[in-house]
Amino acid sequence: MTSIVVVEDEADIAQLLALYMGNEGWAVHLAEDGEAGLAAIRARSPDFVVLDIGLPGEMDGFQVCQEIRRSSDVPVLFLTARDDEIDRILGLEIGADDYVTKPFSPREIVARIKAVLRRGGQRSEPDRTVFGAIEILSERHEVKVGDGVVELAAQEWALLDSLVVNQGSVLTRQQLLDLAWGADWIGDPRTVDVHVRQLRRKLGDDLPLVTIRGSGYRLG
Ligand code: CA
Repeated sequence: MTSIVVVEDEADIAQLLALYMGNEGWAVHLAEDGEAGLAAIRARSPDFVVLDIGLPGEMDGFQVCQEIRRSSDVPVLFLTARDDEIDRILGLEIGADDYVTKPFSPREIVARIKAVLRRGGQRSEPDRTVFGAIEILSERHEVKVGDGVVELAAQEWALLDSLVVNQGSVLTRQQLLDLAWGADWIGDPRTVDVHVRQLRRKLGDDLPLVTIRGSGYRLG
């Protein structure tokens, strides 16, 4: 059974996550601060950790993640409330596998966890995908064309990541919305087209992103 430790001091958020994860059949353990979280992770060796950054007590989420990384490659998804925290997640290279900004939909979290677990979960090797001059480093959320790093907006990255994870399969606009925006997101499926255009513009002709008329998109 998939085992998850959620380190989150806001009880309503933690309970909501536990509810959705329980529906997936996952065993969930909740911890309210970093110390309790580390103890739970050591005791349970979970398959996945969801880690809030703003925690009460001695340690914030960054410090907890650094402690985890001394002894474990368990995938970590950060919960963040602020843009400057995202910069730190991306800048510090402290071994987060993904992050989600508050407010988030619990379904989105579940989808992200499934995506990471599908990719193999273990961080022993960086997940690297190459198309011609394009290099996609999934765990670093980084894309290069040639030697240059391409700046992607968060939703552009989420869309690209969803396509990479499902490489070779046709995905409908609705499936891409569910994967990249979260199933609770309400809006026009044409949003996907707008972001696809941006990806094509930024990554150029080596991106094998095919439009399947009447269906959606396929990468590779
Ligand atoms: Ca918090």
